[in-house]
Amino acid sequence: MSIIRQLAHFSCIIFALGAVSLSALAQQKHSHAHEHGKGNLEITLEKNRVISRFTSPLQALLGFERLPKTQAENDAIAALNQLLLNPATLFSMNAEAECKPTILENKIVRDTANKHADLHYQVEFICAKPAALKQMTILLFKDTKHLKEVRVEFVGPSGQKSSMATAKSSTVTLN
Ligand SMILES: [Zn+2]
Repeated sequence: MSIIRQLAHFSCIIFALGAVSLSALAQQKHSHAHEHGKGNLEITLEKNRVISRFTSPLQALLGFERLPKTQAENDAIAALNQLLLNPATLFSMNAEAECKPTILENKIVRDTANKHADLHYQVEFICAKPAALKQMTILLFKDTKHLKEVRVEFVGPSGQKSSMATAKSSTVTLN
């Protein structure tokens, strides 16, 4: 094989590898993006601070996610907004840790056609007794029958852990 042909061959391989890893990345990103009935929760624990980053299709919280058309749909949105103002009623730490939540982000992100929408909801918990911190319970399941599961990624001092929460198994262990 001539040097030029070898080089051409080599760059072909690099190109192919690049294409594979890019599409794998895109897929990975997409799998967390927007699946009806499924939410994502990233929990990060650092010292006395827990950051909880919840994203979910609006559909999983309301049963619809296009712009509201009826009074009932407007009322459902108002009720959801009311819930979101009280993070402790949606995500709760075990009481012994004495954690206080603050909302960092609470917004609806819509696609350009207004067909799909996601809730981006980020809460910071500051805990007076972090050594007593054991678990977070996703209380939000009781407020909507459309949320089937929440994919949980937990990052703490001992590393990273993935789990799946459902209405029947809504508690996430924080260790
Ligand atoms: Zn959707």
